[in-house]
Amino acid sequence: MSLFDRFRARLDERAAQDLSRTRRLAGSPTAPRQRVDGRELLLFCSNDYLGLADHPELIAALQEGAARWGVGAGASHLISGHSEAHEALEAELGAWARDCIPEARALTLCTGYMANLALLTGLADREDAELFSERLNHASLIDGARLARARKSIYADLDQLEAQLRASTAATKLIVTDAVFSMDGHLAPLRELLALAECFDALLLVDDAHGFGVLGPRGRGSLAHCGLRSERLVWMGTLGKAAGVAGAFIAAHPTLIEWLLQTSRPTIFTTASPPALAHALLKSLALIEGEEGERRRAQLELLRDQLATGLAPLAATRGWQLPASDTPIQPLIVGENAAALALSGQLEAAGLRVPAIRPPTVPAGTARLRITLCADHRSEDLNALMLALSAFEPFQGG
Ligand code: PMP
Repeated sequence: MSLFDRFRARLDERAAQDLSRTRRLAGSPTAPRQRVDGRELLLFCSNDYLGLADHPELIAALQEGAARWGVGAGASHLISGHSEAHEALEAELGAWARDCIPEARALTLCTGYMANLALLTGLADREDAELFSERLNHASLIDGARLARARKSIYADLDQLEAQLRASTAATKLIVTDAVFSMDGHLAPLRELLALAECFDALLLVDDAHGFGVLGPRGRGSLAHCGLRSERLVWMGTLGKAAGVAGAFIAAHPTLIEWLLQTSRPTIFTTASPPALAHALLKSLALIEGEEGERRRAQLELLRDQLATGLAPLAATRGWQLPASDTPIQPLIVGENAAALALSGQLEAAGLRVPAIRPPTVPAGTARLRITLCADHRSEDLNALMLALSAFEPFQGG
């Protein structure tokens, strides 16, 4: 077999297991309606939870930022790419973080994926450290753990974590968790995790990609939502979901942030994100914590209740699982890959885009529709989703 044939054979194997994925062509801004491959669809799959990605004030701020700073940073933060706009954004995020982490300082990065690599490779860089990672953590945390030099333990629940912490002889212990599990929508037991971190002298690293902007007073995220306060907390959040732009941040005790700034390769060896994005993000933070953010979060709550109530009888009669969610992420677990694809295909025929999520993103046998809500959805949009789901003809297999 030639080099290319070997890759072709592996692609064919994936296709045979219903694991091939396709990129669809977006012809307009994101949620809740988008032109996809030339046709307007109602989306239930965007992470633009607050509907800010095409907000006129953010578009204006990005244009203003580009006029002032140009479109590229030109170099990494440590060379010449760290602008006043980045500095102002980090100062504002640091102030947000100090609700939960005394004296916190924040560092911005180009993406959440990179932030998690930076965090884990940076803080777990020695063999005398140990990472305790929740089984359902996002791929970027898994990849960060793989790259880190520290020992690794995976935990499924608090009891297992406690046993692992008790048995550990590591000098530095780091508990790592998603705040909101991205494919399930429920919150991690953050209060209990922090209690364990305190008991075993560990740090608690929390990826708040899906809680930032959505949960907590003024949208300040999952730590604030749970009323936590400790210098053991390390808070990571993404800025391309509820914040509607792009990028990510890490906020923590100033010594940890200085350590990451000095040593962490994913922050040192990459071009800084365009300063115009930082400029727009400052506007986004103002919208999130202001009246507009409050109104949008209230609308999300209403939609979430309507969705859960409407889906329950449908799921019960069709044998789908509907796990309880704390957020605008609602999974509908169908089981087999082919069944999830068929359901997603039928919804699309009815003008609704809810992609099937399959392994390795979720465990085998739990393929699902991951329904996400946006504050710009209307009650009628949810009715349309419910109607299309109730018309579903069960997949016959084969
Ligand atoms: N963490 C979690 C939990 C996520 O869901 C994602 C994005 N899907 C990321 C990190 C990565 O963030 P970004 O898209 O900014 O790279």
